[in-house]
Amino acid sequence: MPTFEYAPAPESRAVVTIEDSYGLFIGGEWTPGHGTPFATINPATGEHLSTVAEATTDDVDAAVRAARTAYTRVWSRMSGTDRGKYLFRIARIMQERARELAVLETIDNGKPIKETRDFDVPTAAAHFFYHAGWADKLEYAGLGSDIRPHGVVGQIIPWNFPLLMLAWKIAPALAAGNTVVLKPAETTPLAAMLFAEICQQADLPPGVVNIVTGAGATGQSIVDHPGIDKIAFTGSTAVGKMIARSIAGTEKKATLELGGKAANIIFDDAPIDQAVEGIVGGIFFNQGQVCCAGSRLLVQENIVDDVVRRLKRRLETLRLGDPLDKNTDVGAINSAEQLARITELTEAGVAEGAERWDTGCPLPKNGFWFRPTLFTGVSQSHRIAQEEIFGPVLSVLTFRTPGEAVAKANNTPYGLSAGVWTEKGSRILWIADQLRAGVVWANTFNQFDPTSPFGGYKESGYGREGGRQGLAAYVRSGGVA
Ligand code: NAD
Ligand code: MN
Repeated sequence: MPTFEYAPAPESRAVVTIEDSYGLFIGGEWTPGHGTPFATINPATGEHLSTVAEATTDDVDAAVRAARTAYTRVWSRMSGTDRGKYLFRIARIMQERARELAVLETIDNGKPIKETRDFDVPTAAAHFFYHAGWADKLEYAGLGSDIRPHGVVGQIIPWNFPLLMLAWKIAPALAAGNTVVLKPAETTPLAAMLFAEICQQADLPPGVVNIVTGAGATGQSIVDHPGIDKIAFTGSTAVGKMIARSIAGTEKKATLELGGKAANIIFDDAPIDQAVEGIVGGIFFNQGQVCCAGSRLLVQENIVDDVVRRLKRRLETLRLGDPLDKNTDVGAINSAEQLARITELTEAGVAEGAERWDTGCPLPKNGFWFRPTLFTGVSQSHRIAQEEIFGPVLSVLTFRTPGEAVAKANNTPYGLSAGVWTEKGSRILWIADQLRAGVVWANTFNQFDPTSPFGGYKESGYGREGGRQGLAAYVRSGGVA
């Protein structure tokens, strides 16, 4: 299908200052780390962006001590109203510096500016606004009247939504009166570095937010530190299981947001063109590097040819390329490792007998790229139907009856999200009840709101983020502080 061409419309990088190197943000100040500094790059070009400190176990200890001091001396004694003022201030500064945050996130992660500008940054700010509102109303949240914070919370986040995951973690923790030590992912530390600056700008008391950079070993130091009262983790199921094992037998609480392999179920009475938009948004948003991505498409058998034909036509109109260009729909894959994983799993799809199709669009020379890809003829036992690919790859399966749709949708070790497309309201309610998934979207997909709890069943983890349920994970009830 012919599409019209757009002139390049790149967002300016000039709004962002990236330092040559960053230290650790501990006790409200930048301090050098004692590990081996590492580079973060722009995955769309391979360009070196900055060098970031690696926090050792001693550095993590310093961060935990700073968080403890801030907790006992300042934050746990402050009224909810005053904590709320800081959170409102952070939210407003995030809005004021939205363009800077969006450009920086796009450069460090590779995701399109359209997404960082219209989704990541506004949704992150919304989380701070929402939780700012709770800070002075915790006793009315239905969580009990004698609730208190955990104390010092260790938070470890992935690279797919660096700023938004930071907001999901920090906003509720602070609203409930905890202090935090947060570690961003090693390929995307820069949004957290800018957020540390925002904390300074907001005059947040030193030590309430501490940010340490590093890879798995730094994360493990946080998990193992005896001064941590609770761990909040988002990332892979493998690491989530290791964390659960590490803290077993300790007093530490945990919430784990892990992987997913969501079914997006299309019934033959669904509005097909709308469903196609939802399918595309469900799996190609953020290059499919989304834990709740609709990566398994379940289509009622009598309409599968029509759906696949319309889907291919729509995918051919997606623009892949410079993430800073405002017309770009599909950006870069976050890292060489992730690209290798996507490549390996799609090759397994072909080897196991599924039929592969991709858009054939040209790929930029440098950086990490993968074309929007579709597999038909997929059976439930195929790896591409079982394993999380975390890339722009959709596996199409079929079903005949609602019962079969439910059985296939639930045939996964995961249970994070699902989608259903049908005109029948009663069927939506029935199926939502049958699906073993934390979030079920009906006639839409990938909708997020700070008021709405998000989280998994089974190997997708436990605990909820967002809403009153998410707040509950940051308080304990009974006893005195
Ligand atoms: P990961 O679990 O390896 O990394 C997530 C975070 O955990 C990073 O900050 C990392 O440094 C840290 N970490 C790694 N090892 C650790 C350890 N032993 N102890 C403590 N922290 C540790 O995930 P990844 O490599 O970034 O992504 C790989 C897979 O993770 C993806 O393919 C996908 O399955 C899953 N993932 C899920 C989500 C989600 O939102 N649920 C997000 C990103 C990735
Ligand atoms: Mn990077």
